[in-house]
Amino acid sequence: MNQTLTIARPDDWHLHLRDGAMLRAVLPETARHFARAIIMPNLVPPVVTGAQAAAYRDRILAALPDGMTFEPLMTLYLTEDTDPADVAAAAETGLVKAVKLYPAGATTNSASGVRDFDRVRGVLDKMAEIGLPLCVHGEVTDAEVDIFDREAVFIDRVLDPIRRATPGLRVVMEHITTRDGVAYVKANDTDLGATITTHHLIINRNHILVGGIRPHYYCLPVAKREEHRLALRAAATGGDARFFLGTDSAPHTDANKETACGCAGCFTATNTMSILAQVFEDEGALDRLEGFASGNGAAFYRLPVNAATLTLTRGEAVTYPAKIITGEGEVTVFDPGFPLHWSVSA
Ligand SMILES: [Zn+2]
Repeated sequence: MNQTLTIARPDDWHLHLRDGAMLRAVLPETARHFARAIIMPNLVPPVVTGAQAAAYRDRILAALPDGMTFEPLMTLYLTEDTDPADVAAAAETGLVKAVKLYPAGATTNSASGVRDFDRVRGVLDKMAEIGLPLCVHGEVTDAEVDIFDREAVFIDRVLDPIRRATPGLRVVMEHITTRDGVAYVKANDTDLGATITTHHLIINRNHILVGGIRPHYYCLPVAKREEHRLALRAAATGGDARFFLGTDSAPHTDANKETACGCAGCFTATNTMSILAQVFEDEGALDRLEGFASGNGAAFYRLPVNAATLTLTRGEAVTYPAKIITGEGEVTVFDPGFPLHWSVSA
């Protein structure tokens, strides 16, 4: 007998849509299942000002196919030159829902990120005052810190000092990958939340490196040891409202992934909800999928839960295309490595 599960339509609290031909190809993959998404601002050049965010939102809406509904929730890329008044004005109109902090050089298109945190103090103070969340890519970029340790070191060296220096600042630790990240959220208050990606619930670092290098499993922050993956699964499925879905779905063409210096990112927009239903079923937590995908993030961002719904049905194995075709080239869809039995209907 087929089992069905109907949940409030989910949102993706961390998404890369890019621009141009790539945007047009990947946007329907998200809009098919998700009502809203927090849109990452790391274009080239980055989305720094309110005016740039408004223009990017208009390009996203123009790329949305007829008959689909989707609300992009815009973010600003924090730089050492960001103007607190511009941030406040963009938040006031409802255009901008968060500001994104990339340590300089942390990931794709992050060269404009912050080097000296004292130079963004005015922006952070303004954000604390108006309740605008700061989304952080939580990795230090110091060359001497091992790539597998960069999240834990970031918490100690950067995140905790920022939070202590800015009382009331609301922070989302984006795409946490370690038990250290989980523990830091749990040890703090409701001003701190964290997104967890789909792929970090599935892969550990062995998936990337054992038996040959698998470029489509390479992302940043890089997947860690199995003990960390298990901590993420426990956090995602455990019902704590401070943890919510942010896929970090990040399209790169196969040509840019399968090369001597491949780009970081997994493209999961297409099959995320099927994968998550499987994860939550495996953890005996299907009743908590709605909170993780549809409720907790909306609560953190102080937005209403979507009135529309999404229905998942368990039955015969469902298949998704291995790749999507874009105007820039093919993009490989994340392969969870196990059959998917939950199909999704609007
Ligand atoms: Zn990202």
